[in-house]
Amino acid sequence: VSGLLGFCRAGFEKELAAELDELAAEAGLIGHVRAKPDSGLVVYETYEPLPAPVFEGLADWRVPVFVRQLMLWFARVADLPERDRATPLRDAVKATGQRFGALVLETPDTDEAKQRSGFCRRFAEPLANVLKQASALRPSKVGLPVLHVVFEDAQTAWLASALAEESSPWPMGIPRLRMPGGAPSRSTLKLAEAFMTLLSEEERTVTLRAGLRAVDLGAAPGGWTWQLANRGMHVTAVDNGPIAESVLATGMVEHLRVDGFTWRPPRSVEWLVCDMVEQPSRIAALVADWIATGRCRRSIFNLKLPMKRRLDAVAQCRALIAKRLASVGPFDLRIKHLYHDRDEVTAYLALHR
Ligand code: SAM
Repeated sequence: VSGLLGFCRAGFEKELAAELDELAAEAGLIGHVRAKPDSGLVVYETYEPLPAPVFEGLADWRVPVFVRQLMLWFARVADLPERDRATPLRDAVKATGQRFGALVLETPDTDEAKQRSGFCRRFAEPLANVLKQASALRPSKVGLPVLHVVFEDAQTAWLASALAEESSPWPMGIPRLRMPGGAPSRSTLKLAEAFMTLLSEEERTVTLRAGLRAVDLGAAPGGWTWQLANRGMHVTAVDNGPIAESVLATGMVEHLRVDGFTWRPPRSVEWLVCDMVEQPSRIAALVADWIATGRCRRSIFNLKLPMKRRLDAVAQCRALIAKRLASVGPFDLRIKHLYHDRDEVTAYLALHR
């Protein structure tokens, strides 16, 4: 393996580069990171290729905040001939002796790169056939890593592997979510994506159940509230602004025109969700206080990051939460820059049970 390869939203390469650099340094790797501005792609390269076990546990996409997909790359194949790209790719895969259980063809998420998505779709089957003939691709075998072929441009591809359990299940790390009919704002997709990305399947089953209670701070016009109400939860929607009729019509929503920073629920709830546009440190402190005082069991909240030093702001929030909960007990804090997030990240916080 030669290093780490990660996708991010175009414009966030600097943040992801710093995170991958730190991950690699913590693992004792020596190398450097490359990230062209607005390319949507960050590459960490070790000075010498190392055996795969050295990277064990390092390429878990859930760990870096700004990564959409994280892979271990082992070859970069340049000068691919237009008439036969499959042969040099097959040879590069064969040279490593690795075997794969699945194949994904991808590009970074930029307007320029996406022009190659049609090519990726057309080329997937012919390439899979060539790799199967070479015994490098064995879809019937379970537990084998996924081979990612990432086209940086039409002539250049990165070859990388990722374990299914450590990587995003979606091509390019982008969940394709359909806008639900009854929801009033596109930000509803942000909470839907957060549920899928930040929670395990078991956590979703246990904590997103009909009958549970939830509070939504900064709820208007009601996209997040709709996600909760639609799952049969009783939601208190806190906002001075109006909540859409379609959301109130679920019959599951109580709307309070009060201040989200000072209001507290009369009894504890399962979920606190919060999408108020405020300084991230204020939001982190508020959520940590609800958790510490048992007013909610878990929370998903948005941290707006319009500033230049986004990683510093995230680190400050982490520290602030850790300090508030230090005497309360161990906790889970998961923070991700979701596909539906722009200048913001989404976080999950809960105490261990
Ligand atoms: N999540 C919502 C949705 O899906 O429709 C969108 C929320 S919008 C980004 C932010 C909301 O926070 C605004 O409606 C604003 O009125 C509300 N807000 C800001 N400060 C607030 C405060 N101190 N108390 C209550 N609501 C607040």
